[in-house]
Amino acid sequence: MSHTMGLVDCYCGRRAVLRTSWTDDNPGRRFHACLQYSGGGCSFFDWEDPPMCRRSRVIIPGLLRKINALKEDVNALKEDVNALEEEVGGLRRTNRRLVKLVVYLPVIFAVACWIWSALFAVEKPNGVPRNAYMLA
Ligand SMILES: [Zn+2]
Repeated sequence: MSHTMGLVDCYCGRRAVLRTSWTDDNPGRRFHACLQYSGGGCSFFDWEDPPMCRRSRVIIPGLLRKINALKEDVNALKEDVNALEEEVGGLRRTNRRLVKLVVYLPVIFAVACWIWSALFAVEKPNGVPRNAYMLA
């Protein structure tokens, strides 16, 4: 296992790419490999970073698992937030309708009372309808 620094050319003559291993044995350890490794390139491979100590091989994968679990929690929370935002949007629309109803309801009630009193005017004892002014 050799250790190189900087730019490296692979067996194909291309510039090798620097990648990062996320295996349990080499978590976060960088290596150079052929750009076309999985697409017909050469098998060039060389570590950039020195071998990892045993403690790093134990600690880093555990931390990565925790990070991934937290990312899943965050994604689930984002979905919950999206659902809540949709619900809030619906409630705001309902609230606007209710506010309009509260504003117009007294007007509608007053008009209904006026029509009702005009249609069903009751005569006062003196024989003049209470709402004679509306019937004239
Ligand atoms: Zn190559």
